[in-house]
Amino acid sequence: MSTLSTQTRVIGHWIGGAHRASTSGRTAPVYNPATGAVQAEVALADQAEIDEAIAAAEEGFRVWSAFSIAKRQGVLFAFRELLNARKGELAELITSEHGKVVSDAMGEILRGQEVVELATGFPHLIKGAYSENASTGVDVFSIKQPLGVVGVISPFNFPVMVPLWFAPIAIAAGNAVVLKPSEKDPSAALWLAELWAEAGLPAGVFTVLQGDKLAVDGLLHSPVVQSISFVGSTPIAQYIYETASRNGKRVQALGGAKNHMLVLPDADLDLVADQAVNAGFGAAGERCMAISVVLAVEPVADELIAKVTERIAKLRIGNGAGQDGVEPDMGPLITDVHRDKVSSYVDIAEADGATVVVDGRGFTVDGHEDGFFFGPTLLDHVPTTSRAYTEEIFGPVLSVVRVESYDEGLALINSGEFGNGTAIFTNDGGAARRFQHEVQVGMIGINVPIPVPVAYHSFGGWKKSLFGDAKAYGVHGFDFFTREKAITSRWLDPATRALGEHGGINLGFPQNT
Ligand code: NAD
Repeated sequence: MSTLSTQTRVIGHWIGGAHRASTSGRTAPVYNPATGAVQAEVALADQAEIDEAIAAAEEGFRVWSAFSIAKRQGVLFAFRELLNARKGELAELITSEHGKVVSDAMGEILRGQEVVELATGFPHLIKGAYSENASTGVDVFSIKQPLGVVGVISPFNFPVMVPLWFAPIAIAAGNAVVLKPSEKDPSAALWLAELWAEAGLPAGVFTVLQGDKLAVDGLLHSPVVQSISFVGSTPIAQYIYETASRNGKRVQALGGAKNHMLVLPDADLDLVADQAVNAGFGAAGERCMAISVVLAVEPVADELIAKVTERIAKLRIGNGAGQDGVEPDMGPLITDVHRDKVSSYVDIAEADGATVVVDGRGFTVDGHEDGFFFGPTLLDHVPTTSRAYTEEIFGPVLSVVRVESYDEGLALINSGEFGNGTAIFTNDGGAARRFQHEVQVGMIGINVPIPVPVAYHSFGGWKKSLFGDAKAYGVHGFDFFTREKAITSRWLDPATRALGEHGGINLGFPQNT
């Protein structure tokens, strides 16, 4: 929490279809990570604001769930068109608070837009099923209904894509969403709220509640909120899962990651080096699907490290909004605190015996000396007992671990506590096929380093990368945001009713005949 000066712009909530200034008196700073300057403060909701947001959502649900499928679909199409037309503006907004380069911000919008496009086809995905004459004269059918008010809690690293993993599907299915964005980059959520309103979404169906743990706990404990979709770090994901489940809510909580790239000796090493650099340093490593460990099956490590080092030397690091008219390859980290944490992992690796091949510690950008920059870092011979290997770093640090065989590499991946993403690089289809079968990870790339599934497949990891059974979007998304009812119905046939055939008295358990 920070002290509020009278000059500072305060980013507030979106409640009941309108901006709502906060009166809580609690705020947190929002930085421009490229300059290190505090550009605004974000409101941190108090209990009264939490209650107001949830009540507005409850009213929104009442109105929205009565809309016909055709009318709901119209709003989704309008939202998709507006988003597509104005995404450039949104990309710049993301960069101003997150720091990632604008083209990367555009990438996250487009991946979110894919889910909006999927959601426009919702009538097909939530229609029920009908079995005529399941028993003589009896029909059985199932219908899918919305849950009600649903909570979405998002991380800083994808301020648009992650909310769009959930909100379009939840809304299409007839729910009302309360989004609690990350307090580090809160503005994109408000931009989305304005767009939903412009698309014709009734007041209260999409709410933005700015805040910290208090707001999250408010959602977790509200009897009105029916489900929680969370994305963030593993300890918080576990807390969310346990608390929301205990309170009887449906919950999906996606956590952290430590993604390995297994490189077999027959792989194309130029492809591997390009992809390791892209997936290791894109968004400054602040992606849950970033590659953070390269498992090099010998004898390829020396050659691969030379190729990666060559490519790192050519990376341009700077202000993600552009510098001297050019977009850099990589921007800053989110905060100085996070940068120092990333740096401490390099210290740990070095102390544990790793070789620092390229050192990003103490990196500065001319004209942006106070920005939260950290240079691309390459570590070799990282001991698998080091915390730099076992824990998520979430920065531009690529660790190489040398192994002697496919089996040794596979065993390392499978022994880790995370299971979000992984990739194998090889020209041997049989080895790749074996890998996809044996590896204990939720999303797998074969010569593809960041295998984020398309919108009509679902996104989610295994082990401590996902708590709960439902992944994000795809068919899982529609199942998560709907509740099914099965109806067994008998209408007497006018022809036989006249004969008095009512079935008679029978106290036995109903049999299916
Ligand atoms: P975080 O866990 O710190 O925060 C996520 C959300 O939880 C934020 O909205 C935050 O306000 C809230 N929060 C933070 N501390 C809390 C607490 N004690 N109690 C209740 N709520 C709390 O995560 P982050 O730093 O914003 O995001 C980075 C993390 O997210 C990384 O670990 C990354 O791997 C993970 N992530 C995972 C996925 C995935 O799909 N598995 C995707 C993106 C990010």
